[in-house]
Amino acid sequence: KVRVRFAPSPTGGLHLGGVRTALFNYLFARQNEGDFILRVEDTDQTRFVEGAEEYIIDCLNWCGITPDEGPHAGGGFGPYRQSERKALYRQYAEQLVKQGNAYYAFDTPEELEQKRAEITNFQYGHAHRSSLRNSLFLPVKEVQELLDKGTPHVIRIKMPVDETIGFTDMVRGRVNFETSQVDDKVLLKADGMPTYHLAVVVDDYLMQITHAFRGEEWLPSAPVHLLLWEYLGWKNEMPQWAHLPLILKPDGHGKLSKRDGDRLGFPVYAMNWTDPKSGDLTKGFRELGFLPEAFVNLLALLGWNNGTDQEIFTLDELVEQFSMERISKAGAQFDFEKAKWFNHEWIRQSTAISLTPNVISVLRQHDISAENHPQLTKIIDLVKDRCTLLTDFYEHASYFFQKPAESKIDWTSIQPKWNDAKTDFFIAFIQKTQETASWEAASIEAAFKALTQEKGIKIGEVMLPLRVMLVGGKFGPAVFDIAEVLGKEETVERIELALA
Ligand code: GLU
Repeated sequence: KVRVRFAPSPTGGLHLGGVRTALFNYLFARQNEGDFILRVEDTDQTRFVEGAEEYIIDCLNWCGITPDEGPHAGGGFGPYRQSERKALYRQYAEQLVKQGNAYYAFDTPEELEQKRAEITNFQYGHAHRSSLRNSLFLPVKEVQELLDKGTPHVIRIKMPVDETIGFTDMVRGRVNFETSQVDDKVLLKADGMPTYHLAVVVDDYLMQITHAFRGEEWLPSAPVHLLLWEYLGWKNEMPQWAHLPLILKPDGHGKLSKRDGDRLGFPVYAMNWTDPKSGDLTKGFRELGFLPEAFVNLLALLGWNNGTDQEIFTLDELVEQFSMERISKAGAQFDFEKAKWFNHEWIRQSTAISLTPNVISVLRQHDISAENHPQLTKIIDLVKDRCTLLTDFYEHASYFFQKPAESKIDWTSIQPKWNDAKTDFFIAFIQKTQETASWEAASIEAAFKALTQEKGIKIGEVMLPLRVMLVGGKFGPAVFDIAEVLGKEETVERIELALA
Protein backbone atom coordinates (compact mmCIF):
# COMPACT_ATOMS: atom_id res chain seq x y z
CA LYS A 1 0.00 0.00 0.00
CA VAL A 2 1.23 3.46 -0.88
CA ARG A 3 2.22 5.44 2.21
CA VAL A 4 3.62 8.95 1.96
CA ARG A 5 4.55 11.47 4.62
CA PHE A 6 4.76 15.20 5.03
CA ALA A 7 7.48 15.76 7.60
CA PRO A 8 7.73 19.42 8.58
CA SER A 9 9.81 20.76 11.42
CA PRO A 10 7.70 22.96 13.70
CA THR A 11 9.99 25.96 13.51
CA GLY A 12 7.55 28.68 12.44
CA GLY A 13 4.99 29.51 9.81
CA LEU A 14 4.44 27.25 6.82
CA HIS A 15 6.14 28.52 3.71
CA LEU A 16 4.30 27.97 0.45
CA GLY A 17 7.00 25.53 -0.66
CA GLY A 18 6.16 23.42 2.39
CA VAL A 19 2.49 23.40 1.50
CA ARG A 20 3.34 22.37 -2.05
CA THR A 21 5.35 19.44 -0.71
CA ALA A 22 2.38 18.44 1.43
CA LEU A 23 0.08 18.80 -1.57
CA PHE A 24 2.15 16.59 -3.87
CA ASN A 25 2.31 13.94 -1.15
CA TYR A 26 -1.44 14.19 -0.73
CA LEU A 27 -2.19 13.99 -4.47
CA PHE A 28 0.00 10.95 -4.85
CA ALA A 29 -1.58 9.23 -1.85
CA ARG A 30 -5.12 9.90 -3.06
CA GLN A 31 -4.34 8.86 -6.59
CA ASN A 32 -3.04 5.53 -5.36
CA GLU A 33 -5.56 5.03 -2.60
CA GLY A 34 -2.73 5.25 -0.12
CA ASP A 35 -2.16 6.90 3.25
CA PHE A 36 -1.00 10.46 3.80
CA ILE A 37 0.91 10.79 7.04
CA LEU A 38 1.92 13.88 8.98
CA ARG A 39 5.11 13.41 10.95
CA VAL A 40 6.36 16.24 13.11
CA GLU A 41 10.15 16.42 12.97
CA ASP A 42 10.86 18.23 16.20
CA THR A 43 14.19 16.76 17.21
CA ASP A 44 16.01 20.07 17.04
CA GLN A 45 14.88 21.54 20.30
CA THR A 46 16.78 24.77 19.77
CA ARG A 47 14.56 25.53 16.78
CA PHE A 48 11.26 24.35 18.24
CA VAL A 49 8.56 27.02 18.22
CA GLU A 50 5.43 26.88 20.33
CA GLY A 51 2.22 26.69 18.33
CA ALA A 52 3.89 25.83 15.03
CA GLU A 53 2.50 22.29 14.96
CA GLU A 54 -1.10 23.43 15.44
CA TYR A 55 -0.52 26.08 12.81
CA ILE A 56 0.72 23.49 10.31
CA ILE A 57 -2.32 21.30 10.93
CA ASP A 58 -4.64 24.30 10.52
CA CYS A 59 -2.97 25.14 7.22
CA LEU A 60 -3.41 21.61 5.89
CA ASN A 61 -7.05 21.62 6.95
CA TRP A 62 -7.63 24.99 5.34
CA CYS A 63 -6.17 23.65 2.09
CA GLY A 64 -8.37 20.57 2.29
CA ILE A 65 -5.41 18.19 2.43
CA THR A 66 -5.97 16.69 5.85
CA PRO A 67 -3.59 13.87 6.86
CA ASP A 68 -4.93 10.36 7.45
CA GLU A 69 -2.42 9.74 10.24
CA GLY A 70 -0.58 12.16 12.47
CA PRO A 71 -0.26 13.55 15.99
CA HIS A 72 -3.90 14.65 15.97
CA ALA A 73 -5.40 12.14 13.57
CA GLY A 74 -3.83 9.13 15.29
CA GLY A 75 -2.98 5.92 13.43
CA GLY A 76 -1.22 2.64 13.89
CA PHE A 77 2.36 3.89 13.45
CA GLY A 78 2.60 6.50 16.19
CA PRO A 79 3.74 8.42 17.99
CA TYR A 80 3.99 10.88 15.12
CA ARG A 81 6.17 13.44 16.89
CA GLN A 82 9.82 12.52 16.77
CA SER A 83 10.47 14.00 20.21
CA GLU A 84 8.11 11.34 21.58
CA ARG A 85 10.04 8.62 19.78
CA LYS A 86 13.38 9.64 21.28
CA ALA A 87 14.00 6.29 23.03
CA LEU A 88 13.71 4.50 19.74
CA TYR A 89 16.62 5.92 17.85
CA ARG A 90 19.64 5.21 20.05
CA GLN A 91 19.60 1.45 19.43
CA TYR A 92 19.97 2.01 15.70
CA ALA A 93 22.85 4.41 16.20
CA GLU A 94 24.55 1.92 18.55
CA GLN A 95 23.96 -0.86 16.05
CA LEU A 96 25.77 1.19 13.43
CA VAL A 97 28.70 1.74 15.81
CA LYS A 98 28.93 -1.98 16.45
CA GLN A 99 28.89 -2.69 12.73
CA GLY A 100 31.68 -0.17 12.19
CA ASN A 101 29.50 2.20 10.14
CA ALA A 102 29.40 4.87 12.82
CA TYR A 103 31.53 6.00 15.74
CA TYR A 104 31.51 7.96 18.96
CA ALA A 105 32.94 11.46 18.83
CA PHE A 106 33.88 13.20 22.06
CA ASP A 107 35.09 16.53 20.67
CA THR A 108 33.83 19.48 22.64
CA PRO A 109 32.25 22.43 20.86
CA GLU A 110 35.40 24.43 21.69
CA GLU A 111 37.66 21.82 20.13
CA LEU A 112 35.62 21.82 16.96
CA GLU A 113 35.61 25.58 16.95
CA GLN A 114 39.38 25.55 17.05
CA LYS A 115 39.59 23.10 14.16
CA ARG A 116 37.37 25.33 12.10
CA ALA A 117 39.62 28.26 12.85
CA GLU A 118 42.75 26.28 11.88
CA ILE A 119 41.48 24.56 8.76
CA THR A 120 39.65 26.32 5.98
CA ASN A 121 36.50 24.53 4.85
CA PHE A 122 36.89 22.09 7.71
CA GLN A 123 34.77 18.98 7.35
CA TYR A 124 34.51 16.30 9.99
CA GLY A 125 35.50 13.43 7.73
CA HIS A 126 38.17 11.12 6.45
CA ALA A 127 40.73 13.89 5.97
CA HIS A 128 40.74 15.01 9.61
CA ARG A 129 39.26 12.14 11.59
CA SER A 130 42.61 11.01 12.92
CA SER A 131 43.34 14.31 14.61
CA LEU A 132 40.00 14.41 16.40
CA ARG A 133 38.75 12.70 19.53
CA ASN A 134 36.67 9.79 18.36
CA SER A 135 36.38 6.05 18.78
CA LEU A 136 37.97 5.41 15.40
CA PHE A 137 41.33 6.62 16.68
CA LEU A 138 41.28 6.58 20.48
CA PRO A 139 42.35 3.36 22.21
CA VAL A 140 39.42 1.06 22.96
CA LYS A 141 40.05 1.32 26.70
CA GLU A 142 39.96 5.08 26.66
CA VAL A 143 36.74 5.09 24.68
CA GLN A 144 35.13 2.80 27.24
CA GLU A 145 36.34 5.02 30.09
CA LEU A 146 34.95 8.10 28.44
CA LEU A 147 31.61 6.38 27.92
CA ASP A 148 31.56 5.03 31.48
CA LYS A 149 32.18 8.50 32.84
CA GLY A 150 29.23 9.75 30.89
CA THR A 151 31.39 12.08 28.78
CA PRO A 152 29.17 14.03 26.39
CA HIS A 153 29.46 12.59 22.91
CA VAL A 154 27.72 12.30 19.61
CA ILE A 155 27.49 9.41 17.17
CA ARG A 156 28.65 10.14 13.63
CA ILE A 157 28.27 8.16 10.44
CA LYS A 158 31.54 6.97 8.95
CA MET A 159 31.36 8.00 5.32
CA PRO A 160 33.29 5.70 3.00
CA VAL A 161 36.26 7.38 1.36
CA ASP A 162 36.07 6.88 -2.36
CA GLU A 163 32.76 5.49 -3.39
CA THR A 164 30.16 6.61 -5.85
CA ILE A 165 26.67 5.95 -4.62
CA GLY A 166 23.39 6.84 -6.22
CA PHE A 167 19.71 6.27 -6.56
CA THR A 168 16.97 6.89 -9.09
CA ASP A 169 14.89 9.90 -8.22
CA MET A 170 11.32 9.94 -9.53
CA VAL A 171 11.80 13.48 -10.80
CA ARG A 172 15.49 13.76 -11.58
CA GLY A 173 16.34 10.26 -12.74
CA ARG A 174 19.72 8.83 -11.78
CA VAL A 175 21.56 10.91 -9.17
CA ASN A 176 25.10 10.06 -8.05
CA PHE A 177 27.27 11.29 -5.22
CA GLU A 178 30.93 10.99 -4.32
CA THR A 179 31.09 9.88 -0.71
CA SER A 180 34.36 11.72 -0.13
CA GLN A 181 32.57 15.01 -0.56
CA VAL A 182 30.21 14.35 2.29
CA ASP A 183 31.20 14.83 5.92
CA ASP A 184 30.56 12.42 8.76
CA LYS A 185 27.15 13.72 9.73
CA VAL A 186 26.04 13.51 13.33
CA LEU A 187 23.33 10.86 13.78
CA LEU A 188 22.73 11.05 17.49
CA LYS A 189 23.30 14.26 19.41
CA ALA A 190 24.81 14.69 22.86
CA ASP A 191 21.34 15.14 24.34
CA GLY A 192 20.33 11.73 23.02
CA MET A 193 18.10 13.16 20.33
CA PRO A 194 18.61 11.88 16.82
CA THR A 195 19.45 14.33 14.08
CA TYR A 196 17.18 14.67 11.09
CA HIS A 197 19.33 12.20 9.14
CA LEU A 198 18.91 9.29 11.52
CA ALA A 199 15.32 10.05 12.44
CA VAL A 200 14.11 10.42 8.87
CA VAL A 201 15.50 7.02 7.88
CA VAL A 202 14.36 5.17 10.99
CA ASP A 203 10.89 6.65 10.82
CA ASP A 204 10.41 6.21 7.09
CA TYR A 205 11.29 2.58 7.70
CA LEU A 206 9.14 2.03 10.78
CA MET A 207 6.22 3.91 9.31
CA GLN A 208 6.50 1.86 6.13
CA ILE A 209 6.78 4.88 3.88
CA THR A 210 6.83 3.87 0.22
CA HIS A 211 7.33 7.23 -1.50
CA ALA A 212 8.93 10.39 -0.16
CA PHE A 213 8.44 13.81 -1.72
CA ARG A 214 10.59 16.60 -0.41
CA GLY A 215 12.21 19.83 -1.52
CA GLU A 216 15.31 19.79 -3.68
CA GLU A 217 17.26 21.38 -0.82
CA TRP A 218 17.37 17.91 0.75
CA LEU A 219 19.12 16.31 -2.19
CA PRO A 220 22.63 16.82 -0.70
CA SER A 221 21.52 14.81 2.35
CA ALA A 222 20.44 11.86 0.21
CA PRO A 223 23.85 10.06 0.22
CA VAL A 224 23.79 9.95 4.02
CA HIS A 225 20.27 8.53 3.97
CA LEU A 226 21.13 6.02 1.25
CA LEU A 227 23.99 4.66 3.31
CA LEU A 228 21.87 4.47 6.44
CA TRP A 229 19.22 2.44 4.62
CA GLU A 230 21.95 0.14 3.45
CA TYR A 231 23.84 -0.15 6.76
CA LEU A 232 20.69 -0.79 8.72
CA GLY A 233 19.84 -3.61 6.34
CA TRP A 234 16.68 -2.07 5.01
CA LYS A 235 17.76 -1.24 1.50
CA ASN A 236 14.92 -3.12 -0.14
CA GLU A 237 12.38 -1.13 1.80
CA MET A 238 13.80 2.26 0.96
CA PRO A 239 11.06 4.62 -0.26
CA GLN A 240 11.21 6.02 -3.75
CA TRP A 241 12.25 9.62 -3.54
CA ALA A 242 11.06 12.62 -5.47
CA HIS A 243 12.98 15.83 -4.93
CA LEU A 244 10.68 18.66 -5.93
CA PRO A 245 12.02 21.69 -7.82
CA LEU A 246 12.73 24.80 -5.80
CA ILE A 247 10.28 27.67 -5.76
CA LEU A 248 12.26 30.65 -6.96
CA LYS A 249 12.00 34.38 -6.37
CA PRO A 250 9.96 36.27 -8.98
CA ASP A 251 13.15 37.30 -10.82
CA GLY A 252 14.31 33.68 -10.89
CA HIS A 253 17.40 34.41 -8.82
CA GLY A 254 17.53 32.04 -5.90
CA LYS A 255 15.10 30.29 -3.67
CA LEU A 256 12.05 32.18 -2.47
CA SER A 257 12.73 32.66 1.21
CA LYS A 258 10.57 33.50 4.17
CA ARG A 259 12.00 36.98 4.18
CA ASP A 260 11.22 37.72 0.53
CA GLY A 261 7.53 38.22 1.25
CA ASP A 262 7.99 41.35 3.32
CA ARG A 263 10.58 42.71 0.96
CA LEU A 264 8.56 42.12 -2.21
CA GLY A 265 5.14 42.88 -0.78
CA PHE A 266 3.38 39.53 -1.01
CA PRO A 267 2.81 36.66 1.42
CA VAL A 268 4.95 33.52 1.43
CA TYR A 269 3.03 31.82 4.24
CA ALA A 270 -0.23 29.94 3.85
CA MET A 271 -1.90 31.72 6.77
CA ASN A 272 -1.03 34.54 9.13
CA TRP A 273 1.70 33.54 11.52
CA THR A 274 2.52 35.37 14.72
CA ASP A 275 5.90 34.57 16.17
CA PRO A 276 5.25 33.72 19.82
CA LYS A 277 8.51 35.27 20.99
CA SER A 278 8.73 38.53 19.08
CA GLY A 279 5.00 38.92 18.46
CA ASP A 280 5.85 39.71 14.82
CA LEU A 281 3.09 38.97 12.36
CA THR A 282 3.88 37.46 8.97
CA LYS A 283 0.93 37.71 6.61
CA GLY A 284 -0.56 34.71 4.89
CA PHE A 285 -2.53 34.00 1.73
CA ARG A 286 -5.69 33.10 3.65
CA GLU A 287 -6.04 36.42 5.44
CA LEU A 288 -5.11 38.33 2.33
CA GLY A 289 -8.26 36.95 0.72
CA PHE A 290 -7.26 33.80 -1.15
CA LEU A 291 -9.64 30.91 -1.56
CA PRO A 292 -8.05 27.62 -0.48
CA GLU A 293 -9.04 26.13 -3.86
CA ALA A 294 -7.09 28.85 -5.65
CA PHE A 295 -4.10 28.52 -3.35
CA VAL A 296 -3.91 24.76 -3.87
CA ASN A 297 -4.37 25.21 -7.61
CA LEU A 298 -1.55 27.73 -7.95
CA LEU A 299 0.79 25.62 -5.82
CA ALA A 300 0.15 22.55 -7.95
CA LEU A 301 1.26 24.49 -11.02
CA LEU A 302 4.54 25.50 -9.41
CA GLY A 303 6.60 22.76 -10.96
CA TRP A 304 3.87 20.64 -12.50
CA ASN A 305 1.44 20.84 -15.44
CA ASN A 306 -0.72 18.31 -17.25
CA GLY A 307 0.87 18.92 -20.63
CA THR A 308 -1.91 21.14 -21.94
CA ASP A 309 -2.75 24.82 -21.46
CA GLN A 310 -5.19 24.01 -18.69
CA GLU A 311 -4.45 26.03 -15.59
CA ILE A 312 -7.56 25.79 -13.48
CA PHE A 313 -7.86 22.52 -11.60
CA THR A 314 -10.02 21.41 -8.72
CA LEU A 315 -8.40 19.26 -6.07
CA ASP A 316 -10.23 16.24 -7.49
CA GLU A 317 -8.93 16.96 -10.97
CA LEU A 318 -5.42 17.28 -9.57
CA VAL A 319 -5.76 13.93 -7.83
CA GLU A 320 -6.83 12.40 -11.10
CA GLN A 321 -4.26 14.03 -13.35
CA PHE A 322 -1.18 14.40 -11.15
CA SER A 323 1.77 12.58 -12.64
CA MET A 324 5.34 12.24 -11.56
CA GLU A 325 6.57 12.44 -15.16
CA ARG A 326 5.27 15.96 -15.50
CA ILE A 327 7.04 17.40 -12.47
CA SER A 328 9.76 19.64 -13.81
CA LYS A 329 13.37 19.51 -12.78
CA ALA A 330 13.85 23.23 -13.18
CA GLY A 331 12.94 25.63 -10.40
CA ALA A 332 9.52 27.28 -10.58
CA GLN A 333 9.45 31.06 -10.53
CA PHE A 334 6.84 32.46 -8.19
CA ASP A 335 4.75 35.24 -9.69
CA PHE A 336 2.36 37.00 -7.32
CA GLU A 337 0.36 38.60 -10.14
CA LYS A 338 -0.25 35.15 -11.53
CA ALA A 339 -1.21 33.91 -8.07
CA LYS A 340 -3.86 36.64 -7.93
CA TRP A 341 -5.08 35.67 -11.37
CA PHE A 342 -5.77 32.16 -10.07
CA ASN A 343 -7.76 33.59 -7.20
CA HIS A 344 -9.73 35.88 -9.47
CA GLU A 345 -10.63 32.93 -11.69
CA TRP A 346 -11.66 30.87 -8.71
CA ILE A 347 -13.86 33.63 -7.32
CA ARG A 348 -15.43 34.15 -10.73
CA GLN A 349 -16.16 30.46 -11.18
CA SER A 350 -17.39 29.82 -7.67
CA THR A 351 -21.09 29.86 -6.95
CA ALA A 352 -22.50 32.68 -4.85
CA ILE A 353 -23.64 30.13 -2.31
CA SER A 354 -20.15 28.77 -1.81
CA LEU A 355 -18.70 32.27 -1.50
CA THR A 356 -21.32 33.39 0.99
CA PRO A 357 -19.53 32.51 4.28
CA ASN A 358 -16.37 34.26 3.12
CA VAL A 359 -18.23 37.35 1.97
CA ILE A 360 -20.12 37.56 5.25
CA SER A 361 -16.89 37.42 7.18
CA VAL A 362 -15.15 40.03 5.03
CA LEU A 363 -18.07 42.42 5.47
CA ARG A 364 -18.27 41.71 9.17
CA GLN A 365 -14.71 42.94 9.53
CA HIS A 366 -16.08 46.28 8.39
CA ASP A 367 -19.04 46.11 10.78
CA ILE A 368 -21.50 45.23 8.06
CA SER A 369 -23.78 42.34 8.92
CA ALA A 370 -24.78 40.76 5.65
CA GLU A 371 -26.00 37.37 6.81
CA ASN A 372 -29.69 38.28 6.90
CA HIS A 373 -29.79 40.27 3.70
CA PRO A 374 -32.45 38.61 1.52
CA GLN A 375 -30.53 39.38 -1.66
CA LEU A 376 -27.06 38.38 -0.54
CA THR A 377 -26.57 35.70 -3.21
CA LYS A 378 -27.76 38.08 -5.90
CA ILE A 379 -25.30 40.73 -4.68
CA ILE A 380 -22.43 38.24 -4.73
CA ASP A 381 -23.35 37.18 -8.25
CA LEU A 382 -23.43 40.80 -9.39
CA VAL A 383 -19.97 41.71 -8.12
CA LYS A 384 -17.87 38.54 -7.92
CA ASP A 385 -16.34 39.03 -11.38
CA ARG A 386 -14.80 42.24 -10.10
CA CYS A 387 -13.09 40.71 -7.08
CA THR A 388 -9.55 39.42 -7.21
CA LEU A 389 -9.27 38.87 -3.48
CA LEU A 390 -12.09 37.97 -1.12
CA THR A 391 -11.34 41.19 0.73
CA ASP A 392 -12.35 43.08 -2.44
CA PHE A 393 -15.95 42.18 -1.66
CA TYR A 394 -15.93 45.05 0.80
CA GLU A 395 -15.14 47.65 -1.82
CA HIS A 396 -17.43 46.08 -4.38
CA ALA A 397 -20.42 45.20 -2.26
CA SER A 398 -20.51 47.49 0.75
CA TYR A 399 -22.79 50.05 -0.95
CA PHE A 400 -25.55 47.48 -1.07
CA PHE A 401 -25.59 47.50 2.70
CA GLN A 402 -24.84 51.10 3.55
CA LYS A 403 -25.38 54.44 1.87
CA PRO A 404 -22.25 55.77 0.26
CA ALA A 405 -20.55 58.21 2.60
CA GLU A 406 -21.17 61.65 1.16
CA SER A 407 -17.51 62.53 1.21
CA LYS A 408 -16.85 59.54 -1.00
CA ILE A 409 -19.24 60.63 -3.76
CA ASP A 410 -17.27 61.74 -6.73
CA TRP A 411 -19.28 64.89 -7.40
CA THR A 412 -16.62 66.39 -9.64
CA SER A 413 -17.68 63.92 -12.27
CA ILE A 414 -21.19 65.36 -12.27
CA GLN A 415 -21.01 68.96 -11.25
CA PRO A 416 -19.23 70.50 -14.24
CA LYS A 417 -22.02 69.37 -16.51
CA TRP A 418 -24.79 69.64 -13.98
CA ASN A 419 -27.81 71.80 -14.79
CA ASP A 420 -31.39 72.32 -13.64
CA ALA A 421 -32.76 70.17 -16.43
CA LYS A 422 -30.97 67.20 -14.88
CA THR A 423 -32.22 67.98 -11.40
CA ASP A 424 -35.74 68.14 -12.88
CA PHE A 425 -35.18 64.84 -14.59
CA PHE A 426 -34.34 63.07 -11.35
CA ILE A 427 -37.27 64.66 -9.52
CA ALA A 428 -39.54 63.43 -12.29
CA PHE A 429 -37.91 60.02 -12.11
CA ILE A 430 -38.68 59.80 -8.40
CA GLN A 431 -42.30 60.64 -9.13
CA LYS A 432 -42.44 58.07 -11.86
CA THR A 433 -41.13 55.35 -9.57
CA GLN A 434 -44.05 55.97 -7.25
CA GLU A 435 -46.45 55.08 -10.09
CA THR A 436 -44.83 51.78 -11.01
CA ALA A 437 -45.63 48.76 -8.93
CA SER A 438 -42.92 46.45 -10.20
CA TRP A 439 -39.28 47.03 -9.33
CA GLU A 440 -37.06 44.95 -11.55
CA ALA A 441 -33.98 45.97 -13.45
CA ALA A 442 -35.74 45.76 -16.83
CA SER A 443 -38.77 47.78 -15.83
CA ILE A 444 -36.68 50.41 -14.04
CA GLU A 445 -34.52 50.74 -17.11
CA ALA A 446 -37.57 51.06 -19.38
CA ALA A 447 -39.09 53.75 -17.19
CA PHE A 448 -35.78 55.61 -16.99
CA LYS A 449 -35.28 55.51 -20.76
CA ALA A 450 -38.85 56.59 -21.50
CA LEU A 451 -38.38 59.56 -19.21
CA THR A 452 -35.17 60.66 -20.94
CA GLN A 453 -37.04 60.69 -24.25
CA GLU A 454 -39.92 62.59 -22.76
CA LYS A 455 -37.53 65.19 -21.30
CA GLY A 456 -35.27 65.32 -24.33
CA ILE A 457 -32.17 64.33 -22.35
CA LYS A 458 -29.49 62.04 -23.64
CA ILE A 459 -29.46 58.86 -21.56
CA GLY A 460 -25.68 58.95 -21.30
CA GLU A 461 -25.88 62.23 -19.40
CA VAL A 462 -27.95 60.83 -16.56
CA MET A 463 -26.79 57.25 -16.31
CA LEU A 464 -23.44 58.06 -14.75
CA PRO A 465 -24.95 60.52 -12.23
CA LEU A 466 -27.47 57.83 -11.24
CA ARG A 467 -24.63 55.38 -10.67
CA VAL A 468 -22.66 57.83 -8.55
CA MET A 469 -25.79 58.57 -6.50
CA LEU A 470 -26.42 54.91 -5.79
CA VAL A 471 -22.89 53.58 -5.50
CA GLY A 472 -20.76 56.53 -4.52
CA GLY A 473 -18.38 56.21 -7.46
CA LYS A 474 -17.98 55.35 -11.10
CA PHE A 475 -17.85 51.61 -10.64
CA GLY A 476 -20.00 48.56 -10.15
CA PRO A 477 -22.21 46.28 -12.21
CA ALA A 478 -25.19 47.40 -14.34
CA VAL A 479 -26.82 50.33 -12.57
CA PHE A 480 -30.41 49.08 -12.92
CA ASP A 481 -29.40 45.77 -11.34
CA ILE A 482 -28.04 47.77 -8.45
CA ALA A 483 -31.28 49.75 -8.18
CA GLU A 484 -33.29 46.54 -8.20
CA VAL A 485 -31.30 45.06 -5.33
CA LEU A 486 -31.40 48.29 -3.34
CA GLY A 487 -35.17 48.39 -3.66
CA LYS A 488 -37.38 51.29 -4.58
CA GLU A 489 -37.35 53.06 -1.25
CA GLU A 490 -33.58 52.99 -0.82
CA THR A 491 -32.97 54.01 -4.44
CA VAL A 492 -35.25 57.03 -4.05
CA GLU A 493 -33.63 57.97 -0.76
CA ARG A 494 -30.18 57.93 -2.29
CA ILE A 495 -31.26 60.11 -5.21
CA GLU A 496 -32.92 62.55 -2.84
CA LEU A 497 -29.85 62.68 -0.64
CA ALA A 498 -27.68 63.38 -3.65
CA LEU A 499 -29.94 66.15 -4.90
CA ALA A 500 -30.28 67.79 -1.49
N1 GLU B 1 11.95 17.83 8.44
C1 GLU B 1 12.32 18.10 7.09
C2 GLU B 1 11.79 19.47 6.74
O1 GLU B 1 11.53 20.24 7.60
C3 GLU B 1 11.74 17.05 6.20
C4 GLU B 1 12.53 16.68 5.00
C5 GLU B 1 12.03 15.37 4.43
O2 GLU B 1 10.88 15.33 3.99
O3 GLU B 1 12.77 14.40 4.43
O4 GLU B 1 11.61 19.84 5.60
